[in-house]
Amino acid sequence: MTTTTFYSHIDAELANIRSAGLFKTERIITTPQAADIDTTERAHVINLCANNYLGLSSHPKAIAAAKHAIDTHGYGLSSVRFICGTQDLHKQLERKIADFLGMEDAILYAAAFDANGGLFEPLFGEQDAIISDALNHASIIDGIRLCKAQRLRYAHNDMADLERCLKEASSARSRIIFTDGVFSMDGTIAQLDTICDLATQYGALVGIDECHASGFMGKTGRGTHEFRNVMGRIDIITGTFGKALGGASGGFTAAKAPVVELLRQRSRPYLFSNTLAPSIAGASIAVLDLLSESTALRDKLEENTRYFRAAIQEAGFDIKPGEHPIVPIMIYDAVKAQALSKRLLELGVYAVGFFYPVVPQGQARIRVQISAGHERHHLEKAVAVFKQAGTDLGIIGGKA
Ligand SMILES: *Cc1c(COP(=O)(O)O)cnc(C)c1O
Repeated sequence: MTTTTFYSHIDAELANIRSAGLFKTERIITTPQAADIDTTERAHVINLCANNYLGLSSHPKAIAAAKHAIDTHGYGLSSVRFICGTQDLHKQLERKIADFLGMEDAILYAAAFDANGGLFEPLFGEQDAIISDALNHASIIDGIRLCKAQRLRYAHNDMADLERCLKEASSARSRIIFTDGVFSMDGTIAQLDTICDLATQYGALVGIDECHASGFMGKTGRGTHEFRNVMGRIDIITGTFGKALGGASGGFTAAKAPVVELLRQRSRPYLFSNTLAPSIAGASIAVLDLLSESTALRDKLEENTRYFRAAIQEAGFDIKPGEHPIVPIMIYDAVKAQALSKRLLELGVYAVGFFYPVVPQGQARIRVQISAGHERHHLEKAVAVFKQAGTDLGIIGGKA
């Protein structure tokens, strides 16, 4: 017996990934996360692919609050929450995020991946049913896999198919509809108004993952539930501090107090993984204070998004229509999308191509994400660079 079989299997898998053209390499950034960054390949590129929707990843207030929390509360706690890993900062952050979202209570996790991973198993058993959008995030799918409830899946964003699932699940003890609030590939915003109406009609709970929404969707940035006018009708919200809300890391689940209490008792990623670092808790509190005092950042993001969506279409590109700062610029052809991404970087714009199997065949695109950290000149330059690169490669303008 030798271990050679194992290692040759690993080599073969890597070779398969490479030959399928799916091997992912990482660009290396040498500056803080921002609108304008340096990479090891090129200095001064406009970043159009961070989840830094509000420009808070390197915001002076977030940095100052993180430093202050290190001074007052230390670097780390070396403990899970229930042994000796809970500080006043963690309790304050749980209170603030629950209030911000309009929910009763909240519980923190190391990441939203863990919030979703630890959500379903403690709350739903064999007699229950979980009804899930077909394009839900991987962490939701994994979380559902870990629990024994009956699983039903509806076609993406298809409300008639959701209703079919609700009928099918009518004999379950309880049922929950769970969906991304915003889907990250297309920027599609879930139809929470219709979903809540169906949930009421069929006696179902509603849960949403707000990773691409918390902090900026809706008039005061509370999220997709505010955008769709269903605040108060959502039972469970999961989300991240790792995107718009400062971008460091950390996740949460917000719900009614007894639900949060049961998660504290039983949710495995909460019980068996380290507490959030004090600096992140402190900075996240400062971010929520900032966003509660003023809607200036989410307003600027909305304005930037409107400008960019119009300007990139004006330049001759197709986009998926919508309102979200995720703007899928449709190239359709995978090879062209990759070539465009490469040319954009040479010209000073960092934007990544997505192609099959991440998106359907023939739907290759450059997905850009607009930020409140972008100034108008960044966006103007980005559009000009897209125009030039698109013309160079014969993607726009009719030239080969
Ligand atoms: C990014 C993302 C997550 C994971 O968030 P982390 O805090 O980085 O683990 C979960 N769900 C959705 C929909 C996401 O977009």
